[in-house]
Amino acid sequence: MHILHSLSDLQSRCAHWRAESVITIGFVPTMGALHEGHMSLVHRAQRENTRCIVSIYVNPTQFNNPTDLASYPQKTEEDVRMLQAAGCDAVYFPQAAELYPQGMQAKQYDLGRLEELMEGGARPGHYQGVATVVESLLAHVQPAKAYFGLKDYQQVAVIRRMCTLLQLPVTIVACPTARAMSGLALSSRNALLSEAHGLAAPRIYQSLQWAALNRDGFPLSKLREAMLEKIQGTDGLLRVEYIAFGDPASLEPLDETCALPMNTPVQAFVVTQAGAARLIDNEAI
Ligand code: AMP
Repeated sequence: MHILHSLSDLQSRCAHWRAESVITIGFVPTMGALHEGHMSLVHRAQRENTRCIVSIYVNPTQFNNPTDLASYPQKTEEDVRMLQAAGCDAVYFPQAAELYPQGMQAKQYDLGRLEELMEGGARPGHYQGVATVVESLLAHVQPAKAYFGLKDYQQVAVIRRMCTLLQLPVTIVACPTARAMSGLALSSRNALLSEAHGLAAPRIYQSLQWAALNRDGFPLSKLREAMLEKIQGTDGLLRVEYIAFGDPASLEPLDETCALPMNTPVQAFVVTQAGAARLIDNEAI
């Protein structure tokens, strides 16, 4: 596996590959501390392309909270070992100055309501930072396809919108959420969970599964109350920040006052603070 530490390393590696044969590059951008969720994207990129590149970069402009940035887990050596074992072709560690030639600042995109709804509202500036770094990474790597996880459902919508706005010649592939046996969505932030919080956290997915089975016949406001109770339980370990129900395409909130017509598509989103970790999850219900 090639370990690339600069844009010129990356460009000469890609030029080499292109000279050898016709290649398509599948790209998986990450912030490292890799787990099987990331690796599910890597495996898909490998299946669908002749070369797979993973980037690892903890992007400061998408953190609206300095403590969150400072505590973000980093495990570079382990990450490299995992990627090597998976047969990944290259890992790219971009230089900040090359990603942000105009200084460490997010650009401003017209993200519409995505910037106000749910994570847009909860983390001001977060999605501008995400769009900025992804635009820059796509310009560096120039992949045919780029892979993102639906665990970050709203992020996928932001990236699709940015690519449409800029008419970028890349296919965005959205991949299903990989979960632990307990149902907990895999996340680098799970490393921040205490044992007790780790045992309580699967209640988040359990509440989503319960909602999928019980959504008809209730107004969504009632469904939320029941989900809240299931997640919070009586031990006080999980603090729900919000539960939202959105249209799967626009993410706009759905009417919560009356029972939904059967077969109305609903995406349910849950954000919970579990000790030091802020956990996000979502499912179609
Ligand atoms: P991150 O390193 O957290 O920025 O994540 C890098 C990519 O991996 C993003 O597209 C995430 O949505 C995706 N990802 C993270 N966790 C999971 C998971 N449990 N299942 C699927 N994709 C994931």
